[in-house]
Amino acid sequence: MGSGDFSIGSSVWPGVSKVVEEIGELGQVIGKLMAVAGAAKHWSGDLREKMIEEMGDVYAALDFVAEHCFSYEEGRLIIARRYKKLATFEKWHQNPEPPADP
Ligand SMILES: [Mg+2]
Repeated sequence: MGSGDFSIGSSVWPGVSKVVEEIGELGQVIGKLMAVAGAAKHWSGDLREKMIEEMGDVYAALDFVAEHCFSYEEGRLIIARRYKKLATFEKWHQNPEPPADP
């Protein structure tokens, strides 16, 4: 039997193993989505529904870790970083061309 460290309920980085698990499940759905060229219909079911479920699971796992592994101030830094990164992604989405070669 393992120590249980990193799992929900432990005292060592509680919940971080769940983040890895849920990211893996989301990756599995995205892999299926890519394999069928973006179609939602897949042999395993509706991939749009599965994306909603697994994205929710990833958010929940991250929220749990933010709550239980970090201080309030660190949590604020995570949120600030999240919105800064989101702004960068939106900028890239608006202008998807990479910079020209120097
Ligand atoms: Mg899941």
